[in-house]
Amino acid sequence: MARIAAVRGMPVVPPAESAQRRRVEAKLIDVLTTHGYQELRFPLLERTALFQHSVGNDTDIVAKEMYAFTDKSDEAVCLRPEGTAGLLRAGLQLGLYQQRHQQFWYLGPMFRYERPQSGRWRQFDQLGAESIGLASAASDVEIIMMCARFWQVLDVPKPPRLQLNTLGDATTRSRYGQALKDFFTPYAPQLGADDQRRLTTNPMRLLDSKHPATQALLKDAPPITDYITAAQEEHLQQVCSILKALAIPYTINPHLVRGLDYYTGIVFEWTSSDLGAQNTVCAGGRYDALIERLGGPPTPATGFALGLDRLMLLLTKMGRTEEAPTPHLMLISLVGPTALFTLRQKIALALPMLRITCVLDAPHLKRALKRADQQKIPFVTILGEEEAAAERLTVRDMHLSTQEQMSWPAFCAKMKEMLATRP
Ligand code: ATP
Ligand code: MG
Repeated sequence: MARIAAVRGMPVVPPAESAQRRRVEAKLIDVLTTHGYQELRFPLLERTALFQHSVGNDTDIVAKEMYAFTDKSDEAVCLRPEGTAGLLRAGLQLGLYQQRHQQFWYLGPMFRYERPQSGRWRQFDQLGAESIGLASAASDVEIIMMCARFWQVLDVPKPPRLQLNTLGDATTRSRYGQALKDFFTPYAPQLGADDQRRLTTNPMRLLDSKHPATQALLKDAPPITDYITAAQEEHLQQVCSILKALAIPYTINPHLVRGLDYYTGIVFEWTSSDLGAQNTVCAGGRYDALIERLGGPPTPATGFALGLDRLMLLLTKMGRTEEAPTPHLMLISLVGPTALFTLRQKIALALPMLRITCVLDAPHLKRALKRADQQKIPFVTILGEEEAAAERLTVRDMHLSTQEQMSWPAFCAKMKEMLATRP
């Protein structure tokens, strides 16, 4: 049969890279946990209306990128293109917003029908965090601070840089949208078809345009800072002053908008010049009106989403890929699987931290030893007739090329000694 190709844009992560991802994810989750964030799992498939009402109909995500279809009962559903809307909906379903302050994280695949290229997939993983219930600048900073902590725990030599802006509330945005419309309308014929449409449907999306003519014009467009209220300006200043005190560098980018319509107030992006065109690793902001929009009580909230695929690209570029941990011990049985598995269980009970690889197939001792050598496995235990009967183990030290028979207690002591030096 002819091979069936993968669906375009769907990644396959090879074992070594998958192992690496697990380690990176564990470090990031550790940061979230120590800040009091709890995991919330929610569906990959949602009603399409959820994203239309939250992310917004005029955004690229909803207008062009969703994997939306009708299921067998004619329900309009789609694969989730982002996490916040689904997490909030799940929180409402569980009745979680009665309490004052809630902090959640999530990790998993998102789906967007985009043109696949480096750093841009149709299925990609996001790690996100949402701080729900607080309106303060401090809660925005906590979200940003956790990202800064990520770069520290991953020991990224050249960390992504933080850009900040504030988008104001609905009134601010509609006044600013009008100002952009007034500014761009005389240039409409120079704009691309998408941007001409945005000019009437959602002028603020022009700030996000990749079209060169629009980008050139943007340099002279009015900044949003001329339109935000004194309270919004004050909030931004508070965020900035706490960031300064924490020595987290940032730049204010008055043209920064996000590809999702639900943001109000602070928005931010962490970008890296080492990533080429797809340079945003992590992005987020405040969305104070969204929970109410989705049918919940008025609840302020702020959060971020980090693209794990791009983070892995960045870590690889910076040579921050760690070797997968090698096994501590190779078990080879010359007397069939029963004795081998019995010993495997016994060791697992006595030494649960020991990483063991077993040679199960018809043993070619020399070949197995060569493999242990190549994989830099420090010890090999060979189980023959004699060992199985006498309960003594033949242990080969691969580094010293020595082999000795030892009792079970001596074996355990040796393995413990090794674990102390190479956990
Ligand atoms: P971009 O401007 O790069 O398209 P975005 O504004 O669409 O990003 P968000 O919706 O804010 O991105 O998603 C947060 C993060 O998820 C991004 O910063 C990025 O790291 C990652 N991400 C978004 N889309 C993709 C994709 N198609 N493939 C891989 N990672 C992605
Ligand atoms: Mg995008």
